[in-house]
Amino acid sequence: MRINITLECKDCGEQNYRVSKNRRNQPDKMSINKYCPRCNTRTVHIEKK
Ligand SMILES: [Zn+2]
Repeated sequence: MRINITLECKDCGEQNYRVSKNRRNQPDKMSINKYCPRCNTRTVHIEKK
């Protein structure tokens, strides 16, 4: 029961990463620190609705 989600930069909204997750194991919204090419630094990336 895996679903594909898009992670977008919280600062600029750029959609930088595609990941899949198991909704049963990770029911909460994901929030990860990742590199954003537009911001040129590491920012918080959140799961897009
Ligand atoms: Zn950004």
